Amino acid sequence: MRAIVVGSGAGGATVARELQSNGFEVSILEAGSPFKPFTRNISWSEPLRRWGLLGGEGNFRHLFPHMNMLRSSADLLLVRGLTTGGSTVLSCGNIVRTHRGLGEIGLDLTPEFQELEDKIHPKPFPQERWRPLTSKMYHVALEMGLKPQPTPKAVDPHLCVSCGLCEVGCHRGARWDSRRFLSEATNQGATLHTNCKVERVILEKDTVKGVEINQQGKKKILKADLVVLSAGGIGTPQILKNSGLKVENRLWADIVLTLGGVVPGARQLEEPPMVWFTEHENYILSPYLDILSHFFHKPWRKVSVKDRVGLMVKLADTEKGAVYEDGTVEKDITPHDNECFDEAVSLAKEVMMGAGVSEPLVNGMYNGGHLGGTVPLKKGDVSLMKPSWLPDGLWVADLSLVPRSQGMPTILLTAALALKVAREIIRQYEKI
Ligand SMILES: Cc1cc2nc3c(=O)[nH]c(=O)nc-3n(C[C@H](O)[C@H](O)[C@H](O)COP(=O)(O)OP(=O)(O)OC[C@H]3O[C@@H](n4cnc5c(N)ncnc54)[C@H](O)[C@@H]3O)c2cc1C
Repeated sequence: MRAIVVGSGAGGATVARELQSNGFEVSILEAGSPFKPFTRNISWSEPLRRWGLLGGEGNFRHLFPHMNMLRSSADLLLVRGLTTGGSTVLSCGNIVRTHRGLGEIGLDLTPEFQELEDKIHPKPFPQERWRPLTSKMYHVALEMGLKPQPTPKAVDPHLCVSCGLCEVGCHRGARWDSRRFLSEATNQGATLHTNCKVERVILEKDTVKGVEINQQGKKKILKADLVVLSAGGIGTPQILKNSGLKVENRLWADIVLTLGGVVPGARQLEEPPMVWFTEHENYILSPYLDILSHFFHKPWRKVSVKDRVGLMVKLADTEKGAVYEDGTVEKDITPHDNECFDEAVSLAKEVMMGAGVSEPLVNGMYNGGHLGGTVPLKKGDVSLMKPSWLPDGLWVADLSLVPRSQGMPTILLTAALALKVAREIIRQYEKI
């Protein structure tokens, strides 16, 4: 049985590994090039940054093309990985269970979460290696009754050198990313094609026959018995729309806003990001030196990286946003999101000030990198793990399936869903 898996991130790598090891002949089609971490020391850029000579975030792609950034409105920047490993290669290494809204559709991923945790072994990063200010904020949050928890991380502390730059790739190989599943798939015989963008799915009489690809300007048709779309929250709806299929305008992004302060010599970058978090109804707080805001947000420009400190709000945002055929996205911060941010930021302020960070505290830039929601699973779809309107032989296995925003790390959720989708594919095709 020939299967095409589109994308090699949290969803794609998981599904490819599972299908290949169960007798399918898997081809993984990946739009990006093979991932290489950004290895330059960021201190070289400090003078340019301070003088505003780095320009806007668009210029970052010349330095680090794997990080794709696009503005979905004047205020909101969306970030994703377009490379082998997808967005997981840019991750902070947080591996956390999250299931907001899944109970409403009757989906329980507990066995898949457990199975993946047993494989990835997430553990908190040793507290003795947290920066002093991060520990102070943790204790303030504890005293305030916010129940902070050390974040389970897929980061090997023996290999990690605390460079704080997880989001531009781990050059030490200390942090897990989905390329480990990808190698397991290819070691078992799956083929990986990079720089291979899927444009659309080929359908005949409402049945999938293959995909049309664009490989460095050349278009080609690849045939398959089934196609799994794991191109992420933007890629998957784009392909579906270009195939004449409808998606829902419910894109969510778990929008992040970091409250920035100044503590001379805090050196918060010298630890992995987000070593602890507090969980609230629709957001989390977590220590974070937001490097995007550090580089590109004008109000943060004057402060050196050694003195910059931050506490992140990650919000379960309103599920509203549209992806178009050309890959552009329209999504804004809603009045409800703003109300939630106001509440969260004032709590973050209390924690920071309690830990001795003095005013002024300045908001960073709004950005979102957990992209999902446009192909939401409904209650009736859960038994077959597939939206009922998808044609025969076409599956989705990425965050696009998740109906509600999470305000929490989403790799484990995506991989767990993909595992369940893969098992359902195996079950259905075993009968043929
Ligand atoms: C900076 C950053 C930090 C993050 N940190 C964390 C964290 O610490 N913990 C956590 O749990 N989550 C984190 N996330 C979120 C997490 O990485 C994503 O939610 C998760 O990877 C989503 O999986 P996915 O399979 O849906 O998409 P992705 O992992 O993004 O994979 C999509 C894949 O499809 C490919 N693709 C796209 N279009 C096409 C096309 N047309 N043809 C072929 N291939 C295509 C892409 O190149 C990519 O490989 C972070 C995200 C970002 C951006």
